[in-house]
Formats: sequence, C-alpha cells, structure tokens
Amino acid sequence: MSIENVEAFASVNAMRNVQEILNQGTEPHLLSGAQYLESLRDGRRVIDSQGKEIPDVTEHPTTGPSAHTFASVMDMQFDEKYRNTLTYLDDAGDRRARGWHIPRNKEDLFLKREQIGATGERTLGMFGRPPEYGPAMSLGFLAIIDRIEKENPVFAENIRRFVDQSSRLNLLSTDLIADPQSDRRVPRNERPGTLRVVGETDEGIMLRGSKIAGSSGSISHFFTLSTTLGEGLGPDAAIWAAIPVNLPGVTLVTREPALHKKQNPVDNPIGVLGEEVDQIILFDDAVLPKDLVFSLGNTELLTAYFDSCVFVFWHILTRLAYRAELFAGTAQVIAETLGTDKIPGVRRTIADITTYAQVLKGFSISAIAESENWNGVEVPNPGLVSAGRYYSISEYDNVISKLKDLCGQGLISRWPTEIWEHPEFGPKLKSFLPGHDIDAFGKNQLFNFAWDLTASANAGRLGLFEKVNATPPAFVAEIVYQHVGRDKSAQFVRDFLARSR
Ligand SMILES: Cc1cc2nc3c(=O)[nH]c(=O)nc-3n(C[C@H](O)[C@H](O)[C@H](O)COP(=O)(O)OP(=O)(O)OC[C@H]3O[C@@H](n4cnc5c(N)ncnc54)[C@H](O)[C@@H]3O)c2cc1C
Repeated sequence: MSIENVEAFASVNAMRNVQEILNQGTEPHLLSGAQYLESLRDGRRVIDSQGKEIPDVTEHPTTGPSAHTFASVMDMQFDEKYRNTLTYLDDAGDRRARGWHIPRNKEDLFLKREQIGATGERTLGMFGRPPEYGPAMSLGFLAIIDRIEKENPVFAENIRRFVDQSSRLNLLSTDLIADPQSDRRVPRNERPGTLRVVGETDEGIMLRGSKIAGSSGSISHFFTLSTTLGEGLGPDAAIWAAIPVNLPGVTLVTREPALHKKQNPVDNPIGVLGEEVDQIILFDDAVLPKDLVFSLGNTELLTAYFDSCVFVFWHILTRLAYRAELFAGTAQVIAETLGTDKIPGVRRTIADITTYAQVLKGFSISAIAESENWNGVEVPNPGLVSAGRYYSISEYDNVISKLKDLCGQGLISRWPTEIWEHPEFGPKLKSFLPGHDIDAFGKNQLFNFAWDLTASANAGRLGLFEKVNATPPAFVAEIVYQHVGRDKSAQFVRDFLARSR
C-alpha cells in the first residue's frame, strides 16, 4: 500500500530509499535505530569543517554521535515502555510516529507534550531538532492550508501528501527559514546569497542560492523550507517546499564543531550524546521535483511566520520547559552535594530556577488548554506560546548564570578520568574533594554534568540556539506586541475611566 504513495513521489529518491529500508523491517511505518542510520547513507553531500566530504554521516566524529543518539530515540518507538508515548495506531491498526500525527483535539496535543518529555529523557533536551520536531513545521503548513489552497490547490495537495508520506516513512525533517547573514543595508531582494527559483524543467524547479542553519539537517531526511521572515523579497525568492537532504545539487557545509575531542560518558556525561550541527545549505541549480513544492511566488505568505510556525514555537517552548525542570533538579543535587542546601540565599536561588521551570510548564500546558482549531488542526494558543517563548529566552541567561553560581568552584574543580586513575594524584583528589554523602569521584561526575549543561562550548551553542533559533528576543517581543491581544483590557480601562469622569 505504501508503494503506491511512493510512486506518487517517484522522482524523490530519498523516499524510495527509506521505503526500501522499511520493507526489510518489522514495522511498516517505524524505522528502528539501525534502519534510521542506514537511511542516512543515501548519497547526501555533507562537508566537514575542514572542507572534506563526509562519506558516511553516521560515522563521522562531528555528525556520528548525534546520529546515534537519534537512533536510540528511534529505538524507543519499539520499546514497550515508550511505545504508546512515541507512536500511535493509525486507522489500519499500524503504528506510526506520534510526531506526524495530526492533532484534532486537546488530548492529541497533550500526548505530543508527553512525547517531547520522553524524548528529552534520552536527549536531555540538548537537541533543538530531535526526531519528533520535524513534523511541527509541516503541521503548521496544514494549519494554514486555506491560504495555500487559495494560491494553488495542487500545492495544498502536495503538502497533504508530503505529511501522509512522511508519516508512513517515519521521516525526519528540519526547518529552513532564515537567510544567510549579510549586510542589512543592502535591500533584501538584492542580497547575492538569497535562495531563488532560476528555472524550470520537466522534472521540477531549479534552485540557486543558500539557506542557513537547518540544524540537524545532516542527519535528517528533508528540509521543510518556508520564506516567512518579512517583506522585501521578489516572487522568485518566495518559496515553500520540502527539500530532500540528498537532492543532487544540494551541499551542506557544516560549521566548526563545538565538541572537539572524543567524548566519554564519565568525563562528558552530556557531550557524549553529540552535538546538533548547523550548516550553510548551498543550492547549485538543484532541481526540485514539482510534487515537493508547497508555494511559489506568493509574496502574501512572506509574513506568515507567526501562523505557520505555531507548532514549531510550541515545541521549542515545551522542550525548554523540560530542560528547565532539569535545571531545577540539577540545582537541588548540587546544593545537597555541597551541603549548601540549608543556606537561605542558596534556597532562594533554587526557588528562582524552579519558578522558571514552573512558568514555562504553565505556558506549555495553558497553550493547550486554550488551543484553537485552524483548518481542522488543533493548534496550541499562539499568543500564549509567543509570550511563553519571549519569557523563556529573556530569562534563559539569568537562569543559567544562577545554576553556575550554585556550583562555585565545582565547574573548574574537575579532572578527567586519567587524573583520578593516576597513582600519585588520584588518591589525593579522592581524599581532598568529597561532597556531602558522596565521594569525590561522584562529585566530580556531577560537575562534569553541570559543565556540559551550562558552560561547555556545546552548552554555549545551545544557549545561542535557545535565544536565536526561532528569531532573536527583540523580534519575538515585537511578535508579542503585534499579535497578543490587549484590545479587551485596553477597552475596559478606557470605559472605566470614562465612567469615572
Ligand atoms: C544555533 C542556531 C541555530 C539555528 N537554527 C536554525 C534552523 O534550524 N532553521 C532556521 O531557519 N534558522 C535557524 N537559525 C537562524 C535563526 O533563525 C536566525 O539566526 C535568526 O532568525 C536571526 O536572523 P539573523 O541571524 O540573520 O540576524 P540578523 O538579521 O543578522 O540580525 C542580527 C541581530 O540584530 C538584531 N535584530 C535584527 N533584526 C531585528 C529586529 N527586527 N528587531 C530587533 N532586533 C533585530 C538582533 O539582535 C539580531 O540577532 C539558527 C540560529 C542559530 C544561532
């Protein structure tokens, strides 16, 4: 049955490749970790930070560890403990990845929230684009499909089929929204790096230019592309589409890695999960099959960011809410380990971090409680999501700073395993550095964890990601100003004053 659907995308090698791999497995619509890794060996062109081609992203030191972390998330789909959280039963009684489930009611959204938490247990929320994230962009496209339908019903159908097929194939995708950074004084439409349609063939549209970041793209199957960050572009640059990562003519040039040396679970308890790689995505006259085009030349959609990204924003907020709980838990363990948990100032700091976590959780849940239905898709309340995101990124640095402060010297009083095993220095460290109810080695491990969470180069990259990945704080503030309603309360104030005159 799914072959018919693959035939609909006959020109899309990425889908055919994944279908063939799925045919060899036990579940028609779920990739195991091993199958997922196999599916990434699909001829994609990825270049490492030294300019060398990466022949196999699952083995390369920059992309391999994160690919294996994602593989372990894919395996969770087959694990009894997580099965009902990470997957759902379709109408035929087959299991599919919950990320691709189109939410029709609040209950569906609550189940998605649970899934984000479950994935977070494995990734510690350190990846902004974990496997269940990718569908969020496509669900956003479905939520505003009336606007696409108005433009061209064929494009709307392309979106519906892409979602259906991605769900059948358990695909991973990641967003491409931002343009490459260059001189802002040059009018947007004149910047040389802008991605544009430069021609059309029988097979599809020809793309030239670039996009930026597409975090986790090198270990995903598709990019979901939408040009929505504001006016100023011409119709040739107004493109919405799904781009196979292995599309001929597409090259990913990865940034310098944050994790330079090989990580191990004791010295680098979080680093061992790998890092989320960002890149520039170059399009050299890449021909995109027409059935993957979702909108073309529709300059009215250039400002659709707030609406089309509603699921994306909610996922980012909800994952950060999960991380915030991890911050609070880590703060508690640090204070107990150092024996500082009875000090009033320390307790207040922990209360501040806990409050951050509770506020984010509150936003995530209340966005479901006040969800809206757009085109038959249940969407988290966009106003609450935007305000929650603005708060979460505005306070992020403060919270990380508080967590670091609780550590004292702990963040630098750490030594790698080699020193602990050293015949001369190991015994001294063990004797000099114990914590409360924990030996010195265990305490060292805790601070390795805290370092990876707050202060390592990878944590720095993630901090930047949290604040900027879906536009910087000032931009988000403007979204809150423009879109979150105050009309009713403002009118109340006016009426109240009028009555008092
Ligand atoms: C780690 C990381 C991962 C990312 N991952 C993705 C991804 O997966 N997909 C994707 O599409 N994008 C991703 N992004 C890109 C992100 O969307 C852009 O960086 C963001 O939209 C900001 O655009 P810019 O970098 O071009 O900033 P610029 O336009 O160059 O602006 C620079 C700075 O000027 C200020 N500024 C600019 N415009 C305004 C404004 N209107 N109001 C107030 N201040 C302003 C802000 O301080 C801003 O940071 C990622 C970015 C980072 C850092």
